[in-house]
Amino acid sequence: MDALKQGIVESVDGLGDDLAALSSRIHAHPELAFEERRACGWVGEFLAKHGFQVETGVGGVETAFRASLETGPGPTLAILCEYDALPGIGHACGHNVIAAAGAGAGAALMAMRDRLPGGRIQVIGTPAEERGGGKGVLVDAGIFKGVDAAMMIHGFDRTLLHQDLLGVVRVTFEWAGRAAHASTDPWEGVNALDACVATFNSVAMLRQQMRPDCRIHGIVAEGGAAANIIPERAVADFNVRGPSLDAMWALYRRVVAAAEAAATATSTRLTAFQHPDVYEPLRRNQPLNDVFAGNLAAAGLAEGPAAPDRVASSDIGNVSQVTPTIHAWVAIAPLGTAIHTREFAAAAVAPTARAGLLAGAKLMALSAADLLAEPSRLAAMKEEFRRR
Ligand SMILES: [Zn+2]
Ligand SMILES: [Zn+2]
Repeated sequence: MDALKQGIVESVDGLGDDLAALSSRIHAHPELAFEERRACGWVGEFLAKHGFQVETGVGGVETAFRASLETGPGPTLAILCEYDALPGIGHACGHNVIAAAGAGAGAALMAMRDRLPGGRIQVIGTPAEERGGGKGVLVDAGIFKGVDAAMMIHGFDRTLLHQDLLGVVRVTFEWAGRAAHASTDPWEGVNALDACVATFNSVAMLRQQMRPDCRIHGIVAEGGAAANIIPERAVADFNVRGPSLDAMWALYRRVVAAAEAAATATSTRLTAFQHPDVYEPLRRNQPLNDVFAGNLAAAGLAEGPAAPDRVASSDIGNVSQVTPTIHAWVAIAPLGTAIHTREFAAAAVAPTARAGLLAGAKLMALSAADLLAEPSRLAAMKEEFRRR
């Protein structure tokens, strides 16, 4: 390892107690999407203390920030921090570790700034991953314009440099009918629940023709007021997921068509509301993955067993659609620990999480150093990004 990389590893280790404390503090004060005022403040303060210029409220989002380090002309690399929690179960997705790892990567690069090749490091605080899609808002606000590569880590029960993340579009269907006594005058009613049930049945049949890397799941949010009243209103929420934008939107149109057909069949009126916070699919960038792969061992990590069928979605996908991006999973919990569980929340402040946090910080900082030092790798990333 050269002196720069050795220095990065030592800097992260030297910051170990501070980073673990930052992570624990965020964990102890879970804040929901777009309400992460304390977490955003603490991470920003940490970076300012280490010499970063910190802007808060970037992109018009109160709990977003951008902390910048510039060492001369060169590429711009973004290191992303999430810090929102889940309702009821706190930091069961371990975003406290993501925040501290991003802060640690930034601080280590700052500590080595005299040896860093020219370029800009931006540590970007991206709120509301669990709900609302903060990164999509920041993309739309132009925060990632001029960013040559974006990187983040996410805690998991194993280390994986890439795991597919499906795009997800959410839709709410409302069918309007007419109420009537369900025994005395049922023929006077127009049954909105029938439209809802017919939609679920059509979607169930559609699943057989779906590719295995797509998902559709839904709930009945409203299905009537009482069994002796023909339901005048029914509401269902669906999530439609696909591995590419084309696949996701094509499947979405089929689901909307099912709801429309159900409305026709039942003489109800359909209102379909497509929620604006679309999470786009993660676009893989192999040259960027290769840079990370080259630093895994130096960060003290090794890839775990692949789990290709465990696919989720994240707003990091929106970033990956506009610039080369990596979302690496880093083991912070014992193998077999599922995320969004109370077990994972407990693991996110255990000693294994500290080890994963420091390893994740090293992995990102070492890879950022490579990208600044070797323009050919950046060129390869951009070439692949254009081709796909
Ligand atoms: Zn989550
Ligand atoms: Zn998460």
